[in-house]
Amino acid sequence: MRKTSRWQRLRDVVLSTDPRRRTLVSMALLALVLMASSAGVMLLVAMASSEVNRAAVQWWAAISVGGLLVMTAFIRSGETARLNDPSLTVPQMVWTITSGAVAYVIAGDARGVVPSVLAMILFFGTFGLTVAEVMGIGVYALLAFACAVAATTRVNASPFGYLDTAYALMVLIVLGGSIALNLRIQRIRSRLREQREALAHALAVNRELATRDELTGLPNRRAMQDLMDLEHRRSLRSGRPMLLAELDIDHFKRVNDSHGHATGDRALQAFAGVVRASVRDTDVLARWGGEEFVLMLSDTQVEDARELLERVRTAVAAIEIPHASGVLRLTVSAGLALHLPGDTVELTLERADQALYTAKSLGRNRVVVAPTGQRAARASAAS
Ligand code: GH3
Ligand code: MG
Ligand code: MG
Repeated sequence: MRKTSRWQRLRDVVLSTDPRRRTLVSMALLALVLMASSAGVMLLVAMASSEVNRAAVQWWAAISVGGLLVMTAFIRSGETARLNDPSLTVPQMVWTITSGAVAYVIAGDARGVVPSVLAMILFFGTFGLTVAEVMGIGVYALLAFACAVAATTRVNASPFGYLDTAYALMVLIVLGGSIALNLRIQRIRSRLREQREALAHALAVNRELATRDELTGLPNRRAMQDLMDLEHRRSLRSGRPMLLAELDIDHFKRVNDSHGHATGDRALQAFAGVVRASVRDTDVLARWGGEEFVLMLSDTQVEDARELLERVRTAVAAIEIPHASGVLRLTVSAGLALHLPGDTVELTLERADQALYTAKSLGRNRVVVAPTGQRAARASAAS
């Protein structure tokens, strides 16, 4: 195992080891550092200027930074994880906008720095706010700064001069610009989200198409190969028998030749539906190709599987597919093989195929079980 460095340990303690919480705490810390820096600038101005109320600025700095510190600690504790807004973006923004408005009132001539801090605060809204929240925050900021501008003229005994007009206009410009940019970014984000969802949907459809036969809805040959390999490994571990059957519709070429390809397609769908309904949910029927199907039966004895295939054969013989000049009937031949431990799936399929060939040559519409041979006889005698 890699040794964790002192930095990594410190990072884990400060930001937590949970990746999602780590992101939230990092963002909150960034907001905290920015607020502390702005407060530092204000304190410097307060120290240098004789017009600014130093005590007021010191209180303001302590409360503003303290509030964000408490919220950051709350996020770090993980308590906010169950809230709708785990990053506390809305409360943080309301807090810093209020703090900015108060700074505007108490900063004296230095209130010119407030619009740039306001722009920075509003930029935080681009991370995770909804359009309605952006608008709400915008309206709140407008009201807060309208009150601040009104209060400033009262606090400063001097009348509303050209500098006050410029600052107030600057706040308005920053506010309007930030909201417009914010909404634009929200639109881009929602378009990206839509594109991501469309891509995920296309991928899911693609995956479905890659594993399903479109005509019958059954797993296709490729998917079946994976399923058989999985069951092969399972049966090796559990020792439970696995059986493979190949089913082939009899004289299907004639169906197409006499009634057309569309009727042939309907016959294939009806066949798949009837066989699917005759077997257990845990048995897997796949379209192997054309009018050939493979049925995988797990945890079943050979004799039970043979009886099941007989039932399938009878059910298939009862299918009636209406067409232009009457009804079409189908029969099926099947070859069944027990998968022997130590054999490959391909070998068992080959034995099932040989049994199917025998069924065809014996006159079709029948089930033939592949002989297991001496190896299997020895294996079953040993168990
Ligand atoms: P057998 O009893 O010996 O199996 O005779 P068969 O006529 O069923 O066998 P053959 O392999 O000669 O013919 C299979 C036919 O299945 C030929 C092909 O046109 C038809 N077929 C394969 N896939 C489809 C399909 O998706 N739709 C339709 N309608 N027919 C298909
Ligand atoms: Mg056939
Ligand atoms: Mg065939």
